[in-house]
Amino acid sequence: MHDDCLFCKISAGRTDTEFLFETETLVVFRDINPAARIHLLIVPKKHIRSINDLADDDRSILADLIFAAKPMAGEMGVAGSGYRLFFNVERGGGQVIFHLHMHLVAR
Ligand SMILES: [Zn+2]
Repeated sequence: MHDDCLFCKISAGRTDTEFLFETETLVVFRDINPAARIHLLIVPKKHIRSINDLADDDRSILADLIFAAKPMAGEMGVAGSGYRLFFNVERGGGQVIFHLHMHLVAR
């Protein structure tokens, strides 16, 4: 838990952000600045700065993100029509919040 990290606060339930899905290791909520009709963020509760900072122990967290995306896409009604899953890495890659998160975007 990093006190100055927005996504640590959100994933710890310390804001009024509504979770669409939550497990022991992650939360899912809507991007506050959606780039498309559906724009969800899938965020591990563990603070990891970016893909660059993943440790071997974090493999299961990454798997959890993907396995959360699958039912969320179904729930959003875009599993069949299609969607994008991606990570922005560091400033040059468009990362704005430096707590690892995966985007689920569908038009
Ligand atoms: Zn954090």
